[in-house]
Amino acid sequence: MQFTKRRTSNYTFTQMRIFFFSQAIDFRNQLLSRLVRLIPTLLLPACALAMLIAAQPLAVSAQANTAKHLLIYSIDVEGGQATLLVAPSGASLLVDTGWPGADGRDAQRIQTAMHDAGIFRIDHVLITHFHTDHVGGVPELVKRVQVGEFLDHGLNREDSDITRHDFAAYLKAIKGKTRRILHPGDTIQVSGLQITVLTADGAHIAEVPGIKPTPNPYCAAEPKWPADDTENARSIGILVTYGKFRFIDLGDLTKAKEVELMCPDNPIGTVDLYLVTHHGMNLSSARAIVDALHPRVAIMNNGAHKAGMPEAWQTVHDSPGLEDLWQLHTAEDSDAAHNSPAALIANPAGSATDGAYLKVVALPSGSFSVTNTRTGQTREYPKK
Ligand SMILES: [Zn+2]
Repeated sequence: MQFTKRRTSNYTFTQMRIFFFSQAIDFRNQLLSRLVRLIPTLLLPACALAMLIAAQPLAVSAQANTAKHLLIYSIDVEGGQATLLVAPSGASLLVDTGWPGADGRDAQRIQTAMHDAGIFRIDHVLITHFHTDHVGGVPELVKRVQVGEFLDHGLNREDSDITRHDFAAYLKAIKGKTRRILHPGDTIQVSGLQITVLTADGAHIAEVPGIKPTPNPYCAAEPKWPADDTENARSIGILVTYGKFRFIDLGDLTKAKEVELMCPDNPIGTVDLYLVTHHGMNLSSARAIVDALHPRVAIMNNGAHKAGMPEAWQTVHDSPGLEDLWQLHTAEDSDAAHNSPAALIANPAGSATDGAYLKVVALPSGSFSVTNTRTGQTREYPKK
């Protein structure tokens, strides 16, 4: 969905705190590597001491390389999408790139998350569809970050000038770079994870390998939704599996396509983490899909004045088994009854923070946690 209003502020206190912390680590690492270079000229006891200190960053990087967790960052791009996944192997996938403009604000915010994860390039950038709030950040991103390959659903088929413009700007920005067109059933190779393409270009997968489709009891009550001829309906949707942990991101897929995917049989089963489709717009999150997915936790990537609509919020909030509904912003055009408690909101109204992100750490056992980087507080979701 295209945007309405959006904020244009740049760095926030939270981002700056993260940035300066990262700078401090860089400085320390530089200092240590200089010490290592001086070793031959130092006396033996000094040598031993320097080696002991120099061993520390090696230990840290070895720890990062052998970490047994999947990191998922829901980055605040003010009502667009930018979701960064970093596998235990260090391999990475970025789903969407946020908006253009604002002095590269969204690319900077992606880099802040990359820094937190300790990665310096992105292996795969997946563009769910060609709307500005998803593909618009690509030109700024490629100026700053090395990308292994770009993945998308193929041609823009939406008859609108802005989408034609955004699609052309995307193709221009990735000219000469590797691009792959995805279809339902394809996989994305991120070492340590299983990533299956569920939807793309209006089509959907019938069966996910290893999962037996089962009748979906929530289909009977689902109204028939009108066809949608925008790019939203062509969103790429993915299922990410890491051991027993399961995460779903369907971009901005709208209700008619959600129901086609999930009715009459549910080919996906249930998930642990649901990225609320379409930022919480009422055009998406049909009950037949949200209830059947039975998420434990949902993250809504709404803006202060974009999406996070009461009806979609209520559907997700009321879905069976949901433990927490996190939000990137207070939905300021909604009301208190349709916003989560402040502890679950990365950027509450009037808090002066902006750009704080939500960080998920998932283990193969199925347990995971969500950290609100504004408060530093973490909620644990132990394995079931
Ligand atoms: Zn969107």
